[in-house]
Amino acid sequence: MPLINSWVGSANSPETGFPLNNLPYGVFSSDGAMRCGVAIGDRILDVSGLETAGIVQPDPQPGVFSTPSWNGFMQLGPAAWSRFRAELTDLLGEGSMRRAEVEPHLFPMAEAVMHMPFSVTEYTDFYAGRHHATNVGTMFRGPENALPPNWLHIPIGYNGRASSVVVSGTEIRRPWGQVKSPDRELPAFQTSRRFDIELEMGAIVGQRSDGPVSVTQADSMIFGYVLLNDWSARDIQAWEYQPLGPFQAKATATSISPWIVTKAALEPFRCSTPDRERDLLPYLHEPGPMLYDIALNVSIQPDLADRPTVIARTNYREIYYSFQQQLAHHTTAGAPMNVGDLLGSGTISGPSKPERGSLLELGWGGKEPIKLDTGETRSFIEDGDTLTLSGTAVGDGYRIGFGECAGKVIAALEPSQLPY
Ligand code: CA
Repeated sequence: MPLINSWVGSANSPETGFPLNNLPYGVFSSDGAMRCGVAIGDRILDVSGLETAGIVQPDPQPGVFSTPSWNGFMQLGPAAWSRFRAELTDLLGEGSMRRAEVEPHLFPMAEAVMHMPFSVTEYTDFYAGRHHATNVGTMFRGPENALPPNWLHIPIGYNGRASSVVVSGTEIRRPWGQVKSPDRELPAFQTSRRFDIELEMGAIVGQRSDGPVSVTQADSMIFGYVLLNDWSARDIQAWEYQPLGPFQAKATATSISPWIVTKAALEPFRCSTPDRERDLLPYLHEPGPMLYDIALNVSIQPDLADRPTVIARTNYREIYYSFQQQLAHHTTAGAPMNVGDLLGSGTISGPSKPERGSLLELGWGGKEPIKLDTGETRSFIEDGDTLTLSGTAVGDGYRIGFGECAGKVIAALEPSQLPY
């Protein structure tokens, strides 16, 4: 499908991540009040304002956009999602008869502050990137035990904290935690010295399930996708992770990009998961392509005055288990899924070194520090560094963007600020 032209001129530029083909959903404020908005070129369409003015009404019950969150809209289900997208395409399309009514509800994106686009009900993070799992396993356990014996059969994951999910732009405070160096007999409580990122995608569940769901049903339950950075304290993780997996190492924060890119916008970019080394059990079989071709990169900026250095480039299609497989597996034992549940894909690394989605892998556990354009080197994040994830699906004359997923790391609390 080619670019769909809009009367919002900036949406027709080949450079924008927000053409009419995208229409991602966010929550913004530009004068204090938080509202639901849709990105179009360099503008945000205030859909809370459109609903109040009676221009759109996605639900017979008015007020779906009266709270600044997309959860209420998700609740309406896939048929309402499609109808609303078609309506927006009509209202913003070139030659729309309703331009004069809609235009007063556009705000400059550059002046807006973005907020969490939805309320996270529960958060589960998977470990579905094969190159990442192999690299980390090699560093933690040696090359012969790199992939755990279950890895080629199950999308493994852990239950994270919904309360720790924050929107891009939120500062991230370096955590304290219990660590143990291999050369010391006893653990110590200290600030993390190996604080890291994980380049991931996030999927947002838009429909409730009660009982097991198939991979096909899982696909219809997903509302949309975001970029996700699972901030990780490697020194805390190395000491605590066996046998129940990561806990405090992943509890500091998880950042997401501000715009939910809908499944509909990504439809032209579907692609298959990589070849299977082992046959999967039938409940994990995919009826068709379930990944998307989304180019991803990570940059680091030691100071906002410096130019950022891109330190990794990879693609979402490297993931071994799709979100649909993850979601199907997640329901096998009976746990209901709810509107607003967030899944993390697991770190997305490609096969070669510049395609690695964490500093742990890029710098090989501190053994091969990476060089930045500023002349500095990095093994792990230093205070003041801003880490930014970007993602783009490139179509026929247009691009689908997510907005940046950025976070600046600030110094840990002083010892005197701790309660012990
Ligand atoms: Ca992760």
